[in-house]
Amino acid sequence: MTTASSAARSSAQASDPFSIPFDERIKEALDNKTLKIAIDRTTNNARDKRAAAVAAWPGFAEARTLGKSIKQHVIDHLDHYLVEFEANALRSGAKVHWASTSDEACAIVIDLCRKAGAKSVTRAKSMLGEEIGLPHALEDAGITRVETDLAEHIVQLAHDRPSHIIWPALHRTREEVAELFRANHHKPQNSDDIESMVASAREELRGRFLAADVGISGANFLIADSGAICTVTNEGNAELTTTIPRVHIVTAGIEKLVPSLSHAMVLLRLLVRSATGADLTQYTTFHCGPKRRGDRDGPEEFHIVLVDNGRTKMRNEGLADMLRCLRCGACMNHCVVFRQIGGHAYGGAYPGPMGSVMTPIFNGLEKSHDLPQACTLNGSCQEVCPVDIPLPTLLRGWREKSWREGLEPQIVRQSLGFWAFGARHPFLYHIGTRLAVRGMRLFAKGGWIRSLPLASGWTRHRDFPKPAPRTFMEEWNQQQRLKAKG
Ligand code: SF4
Repeated sequence: MTTASSAARSSAQASDPFSIPFDERIKEALDNKTLKIAIDRTTNNARDKRAAAVAAWPGFAEARTLGKSIKQHVIDHLDHYLVEFEANALRSGAKVHWASTSDEACAIVIDLCRKAGAKSVTRAKSMLGEEIGLPHALEDAGITRVETDLAEHIVQLAHDRPSHIIWPALHRTREEVAELFRANHHKPQNSDDIESMVASAREELRGRFLAADVGISGANFLIADSGAICTVTNEGNAELTTTIPRVHIVTAGIEKLVPSLSHAMVLLRLLVRSATGADLTQYTTFHCGPKRRGDRDGPEEFHIVLVDNGRTKMRNEGLADMLRCLRCGACMNHCVVFRQIGGHAYGGAYPGPMGSVMTPIFNGLEKSHDLPQACTLNGSCQEVCPVDIPLPTLLRGWREKSWREGLEPQIVRQSLGFWAFGARHPFLYHIGTRLAVRGMRLFAKGGWIRSLPLASGWTRHRDFPKPAPRTFMEEWNQQQRLKAKG
């Protein structure tokens, strides 16, 4: 690919990732050897740390059951807790705004920024912001956006998209980040070690924190009985974003509600262990309304934008389980597909198994019906999910819908129709599998099949082991005959 066409492709992918077919996005990811190194470094580490944290917590299974029931209770009584949260947030001095769609949410935030006369805003990492397209909306409105989370800062410098919900710059190696900082920071450090790079980012961002007119954050939990919001970060950037500017805007999905602080604490323990394997994040902060008389710091205005953007639809259309999601990222760290292709190939704001369930809601099934198909249904995502979301079942639901709506390519529909016919006629099926097994063996060399006619899409990136000489049924029948003979 030429440099010009590659640049055109990157820009097409940045503006609409779905403009490039899914199989091409996958191929691009699989061909990128640096990406695989970057994914392995982070996800292997995350898996090990999560496993150790769970092993060290004897009450994990009970907490998981409790966490699931807390979230499910809130989803089942969402109308009650939303009203309670709003009343308490207003009492604390916050202003509450409601947005049904991503466009409405962005319009509210832009309007608040304009009313505040904001030229520059700082943002603490928020996946909801990515979901609703807030970074682009701010840029289109001519407002300077400063991403303050270290990984988001990297993503912004590289004009990239986040590729993981916990580690947005997971797709970049340390070496690439060092290069990026050298090219973009005003006073880059000479050394490539992590401490020096962090110091360089800190130096770069410090003045921006102080200069921002508005700070925008997300929320990990909305606490109904106090109207408070809770943010968890590891870098303290959320505190600088929410405390220094005169105006603080929180954007949060309506499913982030919990009844009380004690419920939030149960979920917090599950979230942090599942996300990073730590006992607690470095910073867990509760914000309740604007600065009061006598307070030394805090915003003068505190706005909370409660966003639906398809959540009510999810609740009403068989995807209510998904609203339990804590955004811990464990499902993607354990997903055999994510660990090969990374996050960008998924196209939506949320990658991995949880992204494959949610993207059809946000971007439409027509654009994203390939995602639920790109799943082995091995169940490891559900096994590690701290709130037991049945991701494989939800993905199967999308597959069925996409079949009913005729979204699969004709060749797939015909092949499956052919297979279904065979499966209903056992005699034909046995003959077919016998022939297929024997035929495949002809293409094996040294115990492996490296290319196969009509299956080049499969063999391009992986080899098949040579099939056994006989099918399972042939072997089974043989065993039965031997047994009968005694
Ligand atoms: S689906 Fe479960 S494992 Fe995946 S991000 Fe959400 S809470 Fe975590």
